[in-house]
Amino acid sequence: MLAAMGYQPGQGLGQAASGPREPVPLTLKQDRLGLGRPSQRALKRARREEAGAAQPAMAPVQLPDSSSFLRQAAARVAAGRAAAQLRRAQQACENLDSAAGVGNRHGFWQTRAAAEGPDATAMVGSAPVLLEADVTPQLGEVLQYLRTQYWYCLYCGTAYENAADLASHCPGPSEADHADM
Ligand SMILES: [Zn+2]
Repeated sequence: MLAAMGYQPGQGLGQAASGPREPVPLTLKQDRLGLGRPSQRALKRARREEAGAAQPAMAPVQLPDSSSFLRQAAARVAAGRAAAQLRRAQQACENLDSAAGVGNRHGFWQTRAAAEGPDATAMVGSAPVLLEADVTPQLGEVLQYLRTQYWYCLYCGTAYENAADLASHCPGPSEADHADM
């Protein structure tokens, strides 16, 4: 259309060709009926759009807050892991102490009642619930004792020759230190 009016691309608009060089966006009417009465279809579409706009927005779906549930589940798993490791550490402690002629002077050995007592799960309703407290601090104490007294690492499963042997062959005191093994 502009070309038909003598416009050359790249030329400014206006008599002095000083107008903006970018073409002014034209609003083109899509309706085939042009400027006349809007078609029935266009009217229907407009009514539909109005109706759609009038509808209240759908309420957002409420998802249950799963994060706290997952946190609790993870904490239960970690506590159960620590408890199982504590039992292994206590057993190792008893074996090593006994072999060394040392009694349960520190109380780290697993008591028979604890070893044979009811396990740490109980039924609440129909769901088993882990009742174990987090024994990570006790586990740390026993592991530390085993390392310093016997150069024994629970995660390596090895009693080393001496402190230097332990230091050079065991990646560290925590389970995470042994993750790459
Ligand atoms: Zn180790």
